[in-house]
Amino acid sequence: MERKFSHTQQSAVTQGSCTVLLGLLLGLWLGGCTSQTAPPQQNAAANSQSPRSPAQQQKKVILTTFTVLADMVRNVAGDRAIVESLTKPGAEIHDYEPTPSDLAKAQDVDLILDNGLGLERWAERFYGNVKDVPHVTLTAGIQLISIAEGAYQSQPNPHAWMSPQNALIYVENIRKALVELDPKNAATYNANASAYSDQIKAIDQTLRKNLAVLPENNRYMVTCEGAFSYLTRDYGMKELYLWAVNSDQEGTPKQVSQVVDAVKANQIPVVFCESTVNNGAQKQVASETNAKFGGIFYVDSLSDMNGDAPTYLKLLEYNVTTLINGLQGKS
Ligand SMILES: [Zn+2]
Repeated sequence: MERKFSHTQQSAVTQGSCTVLLGLLLGLWLGGCTSQTAPPQQNAAANSQSPRSPAQQQKKVILTTFTVLADMVRNVAGDRAIVESLTKPGAEIHDYEPTPSDLAKAQDVDLILDNGLGLERWAERFYGNVKDVPHVTLTAGIQLISIAEGAYQSQPNPHAWMSPQNALIYVENIRKALVELDPKNAATYNANASAYSDQIKAIDQTLRKNLAVLPENNRYMVTCEGAFSYLTRDYGMKELYLWAVNSDQEGTPKQVSQVVDAVKANQIPVVFCESTVNNGAQKQVASETNAKFGGIFYVDSLSDMNGDAPTYLKLLEYNVTTLINGLQGKS
């Protein structure tokens, strides 16, 4: 909670008192002086790199690790907090390398919210460099699916947000974190979380209804990364992917030939890839089978505001519409 700026101020004050005390009482008080801790400064200037208006300075500043979480948190925070994403739209999240300015930004916020489950492979190093800023992991309480193969086999699949049912758990974790951080706005956070959860439940029903029109034998979701395990579980789809998780080897000849064989054997009409990775290997699958390349899904990042998936709800809608169009031969 304590920010770098305020810490510097408090240190100066503390040292000043110590000088006086030391002059009077010699070294006896030294331990007491150095162990003095400054109270958190609630409304200090948030970030010297992006000056905020006085009204904004009253608000808590929350940093999320990637754009999907930022959108979810904005829906719960409404206008009562400032929400930012460490990574930008389109960025690779698994092996992102935080920059010095990312660390400076993180040091100045009131709370950091992450996905956990190994998604942010850089998190431990990152938090080791950010002092006294609390962080909360939003996947607490999720029923996990393990990664089935590859270098990360048996570790949890981190893409839990891809299931709307799981998203309801994220929203509740966000609500709790915001209420704890900023109790005076609890009523707003509670109301926003409830309204947003209703929107997620509505889209869940729509997606379920739309996917139900697909024949049982035409429910394959073929992707680059195995990022759709939670979604396919929820909607009774079958999942097929080139590599289990980004950061493993991506698009090896063996991975390509395995998917080519499965696509041929099951006469799957369409294959897809995701916005944050190279789709060359999946296009090769398409060229070696009768399948079409059906386009791009959004998983590890939203699009920018003018793109196809500027919010989490739009991401869900866009992916499922793209999938259904592809499977029905409309892409
Ligand atoms: Zn991913």
